[in-house]
Amino acid sequence: MSEAAKLPENVPGRYHTTEECDGCAYCAAVAPDNFEFHKPTNTYYVAKQPVDREEEELVLEAKEDCPLDAIRSEDEVVEAELQEDDHGNNRG
Ligand code: SF4
Repeated sequence: MSEAAKLPENVPGRYHTTEECDGCAYCAAVAPDNFEFHKPTNTYYVAKQPVDREEEELVLEAKEDCPLDAIRSEDEVVEAELQEDDHGNNRG
């Protein structure tokens, strides 16, 4: 997974979009309560983190189907960092 920069408009929390977004609007169609358009950069960002299971499922659906893999969760970021740490480190 590439290391794309998080867009600054994202609200803090578990999910965010990255600069890879090309503004296709798919995520906002799937989870309209959580994604919003940022016109100056033609990108979508997480304007509200999911607050219940239903919203979380929609955000996850958008994340899985985003054509540019531009929606990330913090879990993945942490995982990627851990994997990087593993290079050259012997665990255990
Ligand atoms: S689905 Fe992905 S590429 Fe399309 S607007 Fe949302 S974050 Fe951007």
